[in-house]
Amino acid sequence: MLHERLIDALGADAVKTAPEDLAVYAFDAYTTGRLPSAVVLPRSTNDVSAVVRIARAYDEPIVPRGAGTGLCGGAVPACGGIVISFTRMNRLLEFDPVRRRARVQPGLVNLELSKQIASSGLFYAPDPSSQKVSTIGGNVATNAGGPHCLSYGTTVNHVLGLEIVDERGDVFQTSIDDTGYDLTSALVGSEGTLGIVTAVWVRLLRQPESTRVWLATFPDVEAASDAVSAIVANGIVPTALEMMDRTAARAVEAAFHAGYPTDCGAVLLIENAGYEDDMQACESALAAIARERGATSWRAARSQNERDALWAGRKGAAGAMGRISPNYYLQDVCVRRSTLPKALHAVEEIARTYRLTVANVFHAGDGNLHPMLCYDKRDPSQVQAVIESGNEILRAAIALGGTVSGEHGIGFEKREAMTAVYSTDDLAAMARVRDVFDPQRVLNPEKIFPSGSACPEVRPQSA
Ligand SMILES: Cc1cc2nc3c(=O)[nH]c(=O)nc-3n(C[C@H](O)[C@H](O)[C@H](O)COP(=O)(O)OP(=O)(O)OC[C@H]3O[C@@H](n4cnc5c(N)ncnc54)[C@H](O)[C@@H]3O)c2cc1C
Repeated sequence: MLHERLIDALGADAVKTAPEDLAVYAFDAYTTGRLPSAVVLPRSTNDVSAVVRIARAYDEPIVPRGAGTGLCGGAVPACGGIVISFTRMNRLLEFDPVRRRARVQPGLVNLELSKQIASSGLFYAPDPSSQKVSTIGGNVATNAGGPHCLSYGTTVNHVLGLEIVDERGDVFQTSIDDTGYDLTSALVGSEGTLGIVTAVWVRLLRQPESTRVWLATFPDVEAASDAVSAIVANGIVPTALEMMDRTAARAVEAAFHAGYPTDCGAVLLIENAGYEDDMQACESALAAIARERGATSWRAARSQNERDALWAGRKGAAGAMGRISPNYYLQDVCVRRSTLPKALHAVEEIARTYRLTVANVFHAGDGNLHPMLCYDKRDPSQVQAVIESGNEILRAAIALGGTVSGEHGIGFEKREAMTAVYSTDDLAAMARVRDVFDPQRVLNPEKIFPSGSACPEVRPQSA
């Protein structure tokens, strides 16, 4: 029996089989999949290898899971199978402050890493807004971004190497120092379809000498978007450049009382970090550009507390949506910065057509839009309106030369949309890479690639 084999290998406390326990692992922050056959909570890489071997013997697909904060159905068991939850593999394994690197287990929560090494003056830069709960393993698998990725880069720029358990249960290691193929970069962002991450070597950065945060208000999102383009076009890349529209700012302010203005059309949250001596000149240049582009006010955060409050509001924006509607759907698309005004205009039109309230809080510096479509899921007509408007936003982004995902990944949600941006040949090339790592497609099946192969077909041929 599958359950007995798993219990023999990992111990009874590390294997969940009761339906009420399994239900907890059937969903992520986007959707719900099937009930898995079992959930395992390994403590070591050897445990993970053992689980993979048992899964293969029982023809069970394998779904790695971090904190389940993913927004595209990546961690849901689309075909059932065995969910490997990494909550118990959550330790900082090695820390080398001199070489500014650390080795961590995949279940370590993103923010915990920076907290644990804070006294050394170092930090881990990728900061998805979910960083209080999402895991380094999940961040690696989705190549997570975040507000500060504008200047620091996304997760892939901070991963130095990986330990991977492959689809046979064998362990291999990669490093960006390897000659030959750069497998580390190929594995980052592969959403659990090429291998299971069991350890990560991360790059750490020195905390900046000085950090400043400013707020600029604008009459509308178009003017704020123009300012974003102009800032970067002038050769200034702040550490973060985030935008909120009026609806979002009001919800955030009501929830956090952080000091966000609520009487403007859009607000830009701008952060720069670096040497203290450079800050005044930087502020003058940024404020001048903002004013030229129609800013109605410019304000500097005066203290660390004020900066922290503004960031808490920004990073908690999704939660604040509860102030304006029972449910929201968060779309994730990316366009060129110069087309941001057009993209935002399209979002507004689409929401108006479907009579939905939309709140925009997003990584403006990256052109990464996150329209939040507010609705009540008890009303089927609103659910339908959200589905259709979400798809229309996707099409509008593609029409502007954008992508179907800025940072949340493809997962289950957007796999059909892949055909809108990639040709059959492109997808076939990606599928060949997948087949090298996982020829039987047992690792996180039904993700990334458009449907067309039913679940039974992803089972091993020998089954
Ligand atoms: C409020 C909120 C704000 C968010 N803000 C951001 C943001 O700013 N930027 C951003 O990029 N994302 C954001 N997200 C999305 C989400 O938090 C990220 O995608 C995050 O990286 C997922 O991490 P997780 O630990 O929750 O992974 P999960 O959701 O559990 O899994 C995500 C994917 O990773 C795979 N996976 C997990 N662990 C492993 C492993 N050890 N080995 C192989 N594959 C694995 C899963 O199979 C799945 O495909 C946000 C989500 C929420 C709810």
